[in-house]
Amino acid sequence: MKIVVCIKQVPEITDVKVNPETGTLVREGVSSILNPFCEYALDHAVRLKSAHQELDVIAVTMGPPQAKSALFRCLELGADRAVLVSDRKFAGADTWATALTLAAAIKKAVPDFSLILMGKQAIDGDTAQVGPELAEILNLPQITYGVEMHLSANKKRIRVKRESENGYEILEARMPAVISASKGELIRRVPSFEDVLSARVKDLRVISAADLGLDETELGLQGSFTQVVNVFPPAQKIGGTKLEGLEPEIAARKIAAFLREEKFI
Ligand SMILES: Cc1cc2nc3c(=O)[nH]c(=O)nc-3n(C[C@H](O)[C@H](O)[C@H](O)COP(=O)(O)OP(=O)(O)OC[C@H]3O[C@@H](n4cnc5c(N)ncnc54)[C@H](O)[C@@H]3O)c2cc1C
Repeated sequence: MKIVVCIKQVPEITDVKVNPETGTLVREGVSSILNPFCEYALDHAVRLKSAHQELDVIAVTMGPPQAKSALFRCLELGADRAVLVSDRKFAGADTWATALTLAAAIKKAVPDFSLILMGKQAIDGDTAQVGPELAEILNLPQITYGVEMHLSANKKRIRVKRESENGYEILEARMPAVISASKGELIRRVPSFEDVLSARVKDLRVISAADLGLDETELGLQGSFTQVVNVFPPAQKIGGTKLEGLEPEIAARKIAAFLREEKFI
């Protein structure tokens, strides 16, 4: 049984810059990490594998060549093999073009997958859209914000404890399915020296746009409905008045007077 884990390499959050000419993210010289929620998704896959030894865990990412380092991290953390989906034609992809490309790549590289695990969101784009879009494109059941996952004895269904506004829910889905992972109780693991060594001999395959059979107009910026025009930090708010050490009634009068003055009331 094969579990695909979609992972994204993201810039160290403080380093997000957009190239004003191309409208795409500046990646050169920017330190990158494995998206934390993708690491939780991988952790769930490795836990399922520890309960069912025959499982095969495949980490998949769409990204530039340097995204290989995020895949190596996944191989160190327990993935059995990895697939890099890389091509200049994918640059500037929005969530729809990303999901479409990932769907084609998964069908190409792991046609007999039983489960796709995703992070609930990427800490740079922060849209949490790719998981649900991928499930729609592949016409698969999906469960989001999973914090615990267990396979049924016949491995045909997956039971997921998920975060919800009111606490938690337990849902079950027929497989193949798409599940997005949240942090829950997970502690991020540190690979052992053996894990690091064994990762170096694990298979890492690269596939390009030509392997996917998609029309070029569906890829990257061309295939995107949205484009990131600019990314900038919000203006820092300064000033404001602090009311400290006043009797509550006096403080209330001052606030009411301020609200009247500002015509809020
Ligand atoms: C600041 C910023 C704002 C953006 N806003 C938008 C927007 O409003 N609309 C839009 O369409 N695009 C937007 N983008 C572009 C968007 O980041 C990319 O399309 C990206 O590839 C996927 O979206 P995401 O980062 O929000 O991922 P999310 O949907 O938050 O990621 C969820 C999960 O999907 C999987 N995943 C995501 N990307 C990949 C990948 N490349 N390879 C493998 N798995 C992946 C991972 O498991 C990840 O945890 C934005 C980008 C930036 C930097």
